[in-house]
Amino acid sequence: MSTGKINVQTENIFPIIKKFLYSDHEIFLRELVSNAVDATQKLKTLTSIGEAKGDIGDIKVEVILNKEAKTITIRDKGIGMTAEEIEKYITQIAFSGAEEFVNKYKDKTSETNAIIGHFGLGFYSGFMVAKKIEIVSLSFKEGAKAVHWECDGSPEYKIEETNKQDRGTDIILHIADDSEEFLEEQRIDHLLTKYCKFLPVEIKFGTRKEGEKENEVEVDNVINNPSPAWTKKPSELKEEDYKAFYRELYPMTFEEPLFHIHLNVDYPFNLTGILYFPRIKKSIEAQKDKIQLYCNQVFVTDSVENIVPDFLSLLQGVIDSPDIPLNVSRSYLQSDASVKKISAHITKKVADKLEEIFKKDRTDFESKWEDIKIFVQYGMLSEEKFYEKAQKFALLKSIDGSYATLEEYAEKVKVAQTDKDKKIIYLYTTNADEQHSFIETAKERGYDVIVFDSPIDAHYINQLEQKLQNTSFVRVDADVIDKIIKKEEDQPSKLTETEQNLLKPIVEGMVPKEKFTVVFESLSEKDAPMIITKPEFMRRMKDMSAMGGGGMAFYGSLPDMHNLVVNSNHPLISKILNEKNSEKQKQLTKQTADLAMLSQGLLKGEELTKFIKRSVELID
Ligand code: ADP
Ligand code: MG
Repeated sequence: MSTGKINVQTENIFPIIKKFLYSDHEIFLRELVSNAVDATQKLKTLTSIGEAKGDIGDIKVEVILNKEAKTITIRDKGIGMTAEEIEKYITQIAFSGAEEFVNKYKDKTSETNAIIGHFGLGFYSGFMVAKKIEIVSLSFKEGAKAVHWECDGSPEYKIEETNKQDRGTDIILHIADDSEEFLEEQRIDHLLTKYCKFLPVEIKFGTRKEGEKENEVEVDNVINNPSPAWTKKPSELKEEDYKAFYRELYPMTFEEPLFHIHLNVDYPFNLTGILYFPRIKKSIEAQKDKIQLYCNQVFVTDSVENIVPDFLSLLQGVIDSPDIPLNVSRSYLQSDASVKKISAHITKKVADKLEEIFKKDRTDFESKWEDIKIFVQYGMLSEEKFYEKAQKFALLKSIDGSYATLEEYAEKVKVAQTDKDKKIIYLYTTNADEQHSFIETAKERGYDVIVFDSPIDAHYINQLEQKLQNTSFVRVDADVIDKIIKKEEDQPSKLTETEQNLLKPIVEGMVPKEKFTVVFESLSEKDAPMIITKPEFMRRMKDMSAMGGGGMAFYGSLPDMHNLVVNSNHPLISKILNEKNSEKQKQLTKQTADLAMLSQGLLKGEELTKFIKRSVELID
């Protein structure tokens, strides 16, 4: 037996590890199980190139919980360690054995990619939860002697020969008093499922029952699927396999994804994964089934906020990259160059896939559009690169249910909807029921109306206006149609200016002043006598404010502004003007204004009751 001192600068590094190495103590299990998996993979590699002889045998990794002894054992049948190796790899903190291994073998085989650790600190994460750690190990090397190492968290350690028959390593954690939560079977089961669900070597978990000896414990709870779908080639997988994997990832979700994207990159970085498009529907709500990030099949995190662009976090699935650093902080990830490249690449892939589906099967794409449009619009708004690609397949839906790309749409309405100043006007509706009469009038003129009914449409419209040349978007009820798309100079008004000034105060007396501005327009005789419109600019600002657009709060505090447009060419307006009985004149004005209100769904409560009563009187 010998003792030694762990080679570190500080006298006692363990408190520091405990505090700062990982914010999450539960990570210890991930680290130790990945070490066991690494050791197993190394043995496979060495066997495949002939450096390790003999039968590999059953190479599972076992996790054994012993509540009575307050230990967790992580047992592998991997390469094991000699006494010298323990001194070197375990006691020389920050000296990464895995790194050395990769350097040594990187030219000989590609399998070294499958080695998880790069940092040389994973083992010590055990001290976040353990007051003592033992290692019992037998190296694969011929004639190697089994060793026992133990350390109680101080820099002193003990190392001696021991008895161990089979190759591999046991890591025995003696759980500290303040970490006894990790002696709960469910907790360990949960952690293993979270971090090890797709590790490449079989992981089994068992709990020692009372009276059982350590070597009698049944370890038969299989934790993982060692070859998850994303590690396979797309050509090996059928649609059904992708769906099955989705269920494996999110067992609590019953909806099926719309489609998937299989990522497979090896240059300029390594990345595999499968992304799924869920049905996103109208609102961008916090998603529970998030993208999971893996590093060589080890779960890293599902808060990918800083790793993939925001809009991609609406997707689901798995991203696996050895180039995403495992153990570092979020702010570091954000500035990490490879993370940035990865994120740009995924953005491109997603756009390519959408374009591919669009080109291959337009009908299918259109049928899914309502479910993905928020995602696409959000992407177009937030990533310039995505906009460039998406403008080819982003669709506009017309009120008649037809879809057109931006280019097709411009072609479709160019002739009819160009006004006298050569500007193209895109009409849209945000609520086909409420704006029904305006939509009908637009249709009568041969105009098309786009349906924009998702919450981010207000922002999307602004963006399109900036991108598309010479084009404005105007909601159908922003003004009377012939003012929105002005084809010619105003027709002469039948009412003179003096007559208008006479009538104006009477009309104003009929509606609440703070909400309605009365304006006279010389429209066609066929148009309604009075029409209520919502001026585009103010309404848009209010919509944006409701969406939480920056600096828009001011508009949100204003009341809804309407224009009460009086059609100065309508015979009924002339009739009202010429009515000598002032009571009758007021009654007719009120009735006409109420009709305009009614068609906008603005007539409610007492006003509506009075309107009905008055109507009956007028019919009499
Ligand atoms: P890393 O995994 O990043 O190299 P660790 O602190 O997790 O850092 O482990 C240090 C080294 O100890 C490993 O590289 C490996 O050489 C050795 N080691 C740890 N656990 C085992 C194990 N179960 N079997 C064999 N070697 C191990
Ligand atoms: Mg490690």
